[in-house]
Amino acid sequence: MKFASRLEKLPPYLFADLMRRIEAKRKLGVDVINLGSGDPDTPTCPEVVAAAHAGLGLPDNHRYPSNRGKPTFRAAAAQFMQQRFGVALDPDTEIAPALGGKEAVHHLAFLALDPGQVCLCPDPAYPIYASATNLAGGIIHVMPLEARNRFLPDLNAIPIATRREANLMFVNYPNNPTGAVAEAADFDRMIAFAKDNDVILVHDNAYSEIAFDGYQPSSFLARPGAKDVGVEIFSLSKGWNMTGWRISFVAGNQDVVGRFLHLKPNIDAGPFGAIQDAAIEAMSGSSSFPRSMSEIYQRRRDLMVGALREIGLQVMPPKATLFLWCAIPEGRTSVELANLILERVGVVVSPGSAFGRYGEGFIRIALTAPDGRLAEAADRIRGSIDLTVAAAE
Ligand SMILES: *Cc1c(COP(=O)(O)O)cnc(C)c1O
Repeated sequence: MKFASRLEKLPPYLFADLMRRIEAKRKLGVDVINLGSGDPDTPTCPEVVAAAHAGLGLPDNHRYPSNRGKPTFRAAAAQFMQQRFGVALDPDTEIAPALGGKEAVHHLAFLALDPGQVCLCPDPAYPIYASATNLAGGIIHVMPLEARNRFLPDLNAIPIATRREANLMFVNYPNNPTGAVAEAADFDRMIAFAKDNDVILVHDNAYSEIAFDGYQPSSFLARPGAKDVGVEIFSLSKGWNMTGWRISFVAGNQDVVGRFLHLKPNIDAGPFGAIQDAAIEAMSGSSSFPRSMSEIYQRRRDLMVGALREIGLQVMPPKATLFLWCAIPEGRTSVELANLILERVGVVVSPGSAFGRYGEGFIRIALTAPDGRLAEAADRIRGSIDLTVAAAE
């Protein structure tokens, strides 16, 4: 058999290897604590589940869903964006549903990039921006996210020639994997860059609802000029524990939304109607649920940051997201350290290099386990690995 060469351009999926190792450990009877994936461990908001139950019985939901989504879904999304972020959107022309943020990233890469065109991708980052760019035949220009720049892209460092070839840029704040946040002025700089260079700007707002210490992440669409240059992807996955449901929306520039709706029916249909009903409940009736989740994650964050500092790991408490981004001592790669922690004590963390080469030197710890399990994970790590010793054995 022969296969398409485009798959060869996909980055190696380190998580697949990790999943195999976890399975092998569990078969041996090891009680693995998985802090590797950013998948909420608690159930979906109960009112949202109830709305889905009600929606299951409605015959209108049993037929092909429209790619544009139900008018009630788009209205709820528009109202949510208005109330939560102060962003005014036309539900008929500026909002389109998608089957999760991941799907939206792919469609946006396909509608924006001709083969050979450049996509400005952050690194470290959610790996899907790079794989979507590759599948679309685009060329990745890496924007390093470094601690000295608060994990924001240094736009001035992008060469002039690259700017001319670029037609798309992905950014994501609050950020996975670094936990960094962007302020209004940071979004303004990105918008000005996109305008000056005629680049479509996509802001992936997957974590706006999970934030701590009273901090309220905003929408990039709340900044002047944002709608002229791009769109935001808003996912219900993290805020309402809905990763399994596959529901998000794309909002903003109506030409981009229009192209999105032109492309998408060629690939799939809209989200299942009962899931749209569930999302409507999340956005209108249960908009306070993410705050209660944020309190849970904040407690976990404080517990884990304290424990890791005792072990000797440097970690800044993030203002948002489900993640701790920890610098690791020199002497081992992040993959070596993550493997060592898994082999010795059955705790899964993500190696920073799984998010790109600028993620090397870090591990990502997801706060997706109850307090007791997190404390045990920290105890296990402390008991068996001296992280202050640089040399690998
Ligand atoms: C989790 C996550 C998403 C959301 O993914 P869904 O496909 O909506 O479940 C999008 N972007 C980033 C950076 C994420 O971490």
